[in-house]
Amino acid sequence: KEVDRRGFDLTTPYRIFSFSADSEQEKEEWVEAMQQCIAEALSNSEVAERIWAVESNRFCADCGSPKPDWASINLCVVICKRCAGEHRGLGPGITKVRSLKMDRKVWTEELIQLFHHIGNAVANRFWAANVPPSEAIAPPSSSQERRRFLIAKYREGKYRRYHPLFGNQEELDRALCAAVTTSDLAETQALLFCGAAVTCATGDPQCPTPLALAEKSGQRLQMEFLLHNKTSGGCSLRDGGFLLCPGGKLTPGSRHSQFYRQLRAIPGCFSRYFPARWPHGVGPRALLGVSCFNHGFASSPRQAASSPAGDERIENTFEVYIESERLYLFGLESPDAAREWLKSIAKSFVHPCAEELLALDFQRIGRLHYKGGLNLERAEEGWFALASSALHVCVPGSERQEPLQLRKLQELSMQWGFRGGRGGPPAEARLVGRTLYIQGERKLDFLGWVQAIQKAAGSAGDTLSEQQLTESDIPLLVDRCIDYITQCGLTSEGIYRKSGQNSKTTSLLEMLRRDARSVRLKEGEHQVDDVANTLKRFFRDLGDGLFTGRWGPDWLWATALEDEEEKIGEYRRLLGTLPTVNRATLKALINHLFRVQLFSGENQMNTHNLAIVFGPTLFQTDGKDYKAGRVVEDLISHYVKIFNVNDQEMKKQQDEIMAIMKMREAASSGTQQAGDFICTVYLEEKKTEAEQHIKVSATMTAEELTFEILDRRKIVMKEKDYWSCFEVNEREEA
Ligand SMILES: [Zn+2]
Repeated sequence: KEVDRRGFDLTTPYRIFSFSADSEQEKEEWVEAMQQCIAEALSNSEVAERIWAVESNRFCADCGSPKPDWASINLCVVICKRCAGEHRGLGPGITKVRSLKMDRKVWTEELIQLFHHIGNAVANRFWAANVPPSEAIAPPSSSQERRRFLIAKYREGKYRRYHPLFGNQEELDRALCAAVTTSDLAETQALLFCGAAVTCATGDPQCPTPLALAEKSGQRLQMEFLLHNKTSGGCSLRDGGFLLCPGGKLTPGSRHSQFYRQLRAIPGCFSRYFPARWPHGVGPRALLGVSCFNHGFASSPRQAASSPAGDERIENTFEVYIESERLYLFGLESPDAAREWLKSIAKSFVHPCAEELLALDFQRIGRLHYKGGLNLERAEEGWFALASSALHVCVPGSERQEPLQLRKLQELSMQWGFRGGRGGPPAEARLVGRTLYIQGERKLDFLGWVQAIQKAAGSAGDTLSEQQLTESDIPLLVDRCIDYITQCGLTSEGIYRKSGQNSKTTSLLEMLRRDARSVRLKEGEHQVDDVANTLKRFFRDLGDGLFTGRWGPDWLWATALEDEEEKIGEYRRLLGTLPTVNRATLKALINHLFRVQLFSGENQMNTHNLAIVFGPTLFQTDGKDYKAGRVVEDLISHYVKIFNVNDQEMKKQQDEIMAIMKMREAASSGTQQAGDFICTVYLEEKKTEAEQHIKVSATMTAEELTFEILDRRKIVMKEKDYWSCFEVNEREEA
C-alpha cells in the first residue's frame, strides 16, 4: 500500500513493514516489483500450460507477444497483459477479461476445451480477416495504438469476416438456432458477432432459446460459448423503432432514418451494430444509466401539428442518461421492444461486478455514488437496479447485498440543490435497520432515480401486497390505524360500530393510501371513530379481499363443520394457504379485535358484536350471509389456538395494554400528560454514576432538559459554559 510520495507499507499476516525509498521513482519501482512477486506467488500455471498446448494460443491474439497469460473468455482469445488492460477499457459487454493464472475458478473444463476449439486461430480468422498492415499492432506498440486497434477490431468489428447473412436479422437468428445444435463453433461465432440475437426466439416451446437447443443436442461447448456471450450479441431490430429526443421532431414517415441517426449520437455502445466513426477513447463509462419510462409522453402541440395522427402519444419509451448531462428519450413500438433495447444497452455499460443485475426485470439501472453501513465518510461507486419495488445494489469487490424493499422504507427524505450540476448534497433514503445515502453524478439522472424510488416506495394498487408494508409484512396503513385505536380507542363506546364522519374518513383513507409513511395519527386531531371507519373502509374496498377471492368461499364453508376441533384445524389449514402479507395482516387484525373485546365492559363491543361488523367487511358481502360473521367470531374466540400464540407473546401484549391503560388513567386524573416517557440521560460520559432518569414530556425542550439535569447535579452554570444535549440512537449509526 502506498503511504506517501516515497513510503509504502507491506502488510503480512503477522506484521506491517514500512519502507521509505530515496526517490519517488525508486519507490514506484519497488512497489511494482513487489506486486509482481505477489502475483507470481499467488498464481498457478496449470491452466496456462493447458491453454498453451495449442500452438496459436502461445502468442497474444492481438499484438503477437509471446506467453500471453490473460484471456477474453467470451471472445475466446488469449492475450498479453498490455492488451488485456486495453480490453478492459472496452467494457464487459464486449470483452470479459480474466487471468489464466489467477482467476482459477472461472476455468472450467468446458472453458479450457473451448479455448482449444476456438482460441486465437479460429477467433482471428473471423475478427482479423481483413487487417490492413498499417493498422496492425506488434509487441512494442504504444497503449494508444493498442486501444485504437482493439476498438476497431472488437467494438466496431472493422476487420471481421462478414457472415453472408449479415443485415438479415431473421435469417441470422434462424441460422444461429441451427448452428448451436452442431459442433460448428466457428459458425456460431460468426453469426453471433454479425448480429444474431443470443436470446432470439427459436419457435420451439420446449427449447425457447438457442441455449436450450444446444443443451437438448448435447453441445456442451456451444452452451459454454453462449453462456459467456449472453450479454453480447445483437440487438434485435425486428420491431423496427424510432427515437425521439427532447426537442426532436416526430414524423412517423421518417422514423427509421431518425432512429439510426440518433442512436449514433450515443458514444460507443451501438457502434458494433451501426458501424460509424466515433471519437476514440469514448467508452461505455460515458453511460450513466437507463430506465423504462412507464408513463409515456405526449408530443407537444407544435410537434403534433406536423403529425398526421394528431396528438400522438408514445407509450413505450425508455431513457438513456449520459455523463454530459444529456437525456435521450427513445420510443419503441411495443413494450417488449422497449425492454429488449433497455437490456441490450444496459449490457454494454454495466460493470462486470453487477452482471447479476442484468438478469432482473428492472425498470432502471445505473451507476450512483452511495454511503451506507459503517462507512459514512466516503461515498463509493455502486451499481443500482430498480426492479418492481426492490432496489438491488452491487458494489465492486464486496459481497452480494440483500435488495432493499422500498415499500418497507421507514423514511425517505430527499435533499435538493445542485451546485453546478456536479455532485450536490446527498439524497437520503432511510431504511428499516439501515441507512443509505445516495448521490447522483448528474442532476437529470439523479432526479430520475429519486422519482423512481419515491414511486416504488409508494403503494402500487389496491391489493394488500401492493401497499407500503411494515417490517412484519403488515400494510403500514393497517398498522397505523390499529396502533391508534389501541392507544386511544380501546375503551371508546361502540368502537367500530359507530360510524364516523364520512368526509373525514374519505380524506383520511386517501391520505394514508397515498403515503401512509408520512401520516401521523394524533389524539385530538383525529377522532377514534373516523380512524376505525377508515380501517373498515380499507378492508371493504381491498382488491381481492383479505381472504382472497380464491379461498374466501372455503372459509365460509368451514363454519358448517360441527366438530369444534375439526373446524379449528380447517381454519389453520386455510390460514396456511394465504399469501404472507394476507396472513400477517389477518393475524394483526384478529389480535387487535381480541384486545378490543377484552374491554367490552366499557366499549360494549363483545366478540359477537365485532363479528357482526367485521364479517361483511372482510368478506366484502352485503351482510345477509351470516357465515361471514361466524368466521370472524370463531377467529377471535379461538385466536390463541388458530394463530399459535404462545404464552410469552400473550404476556407481552397484556403488559403493553396495562401500560397503556395506566398512562391513560394518569392522564385523565391530570397528574401526567399523555406522551410522557422516562428517558435515561448521561452527563458527559456514559457511566452508571453519570446516569439520570428523567421524565420527558411531549412539550419539553432540549434546553429545559439540560437545565433540569444540571440542576439535579447541582452544577452551576458559569459565564462561558456551553452545554448541549444529544440523542444517541444505539442501533443506528448516528
Ligand atoms: Zn498483446
